[in-house]
Order: sequence, then structure tokens, then C-alpha cells
Amino acid sequence: MSSVFGKIRCPICSMKIKRQDRVVLDVIHTVMHQECYNQEYMVGKSLLPIKDAGSFRKIMYIYEFFREGPQT
Ligand SMILES: [Zn+2]
Repeated sequence: MSSVFGKIRCPICSMKIKRQDRVVLDVIHTVMHQECYNQEYMVGKSLLPIKDAGSFRKIMYIYEFFREGPQT
């Protein structure tokens, strides 16, 4: 269950996403910081629509497929 924590990086700031961070999940299941998303949005970058938002922990809990990966 803890396998993905500390492994996913925000594609915008390249920082590792911590479980208490507030994140957004876009329609292609990219996880990024909510703050980073907002910043990109503010400067007019084209971003995909958001599917869900909340703490990383909550997103992980809801979308269990994040726990499944090529590694066992
Ligand atoms: Zn970020």
C-alpha cells in the first residue's frame, strides 16, 4: 500500500509528492500538486481537465490502481 508514496513526482515542479500534499488528478491520471496546477493555470498553460482533487492520501485511496505497478 505504501509502495507509491515517495515515488510519484509532480510533473510541474519535479518534487516528490507527499501523502499529505494537496493534489489534483487529471483525466489521464496524472497527479500533480494543486498549487502547481493553479500556477500553471494562472499563466495560461493548457492543462487537462481535473477529474478529482484532495490530499494525495485520499486520491491514492480512491484510485487503487496507483498501487498496482509493474513491480510486485
Ligand atoms: Zn508540484
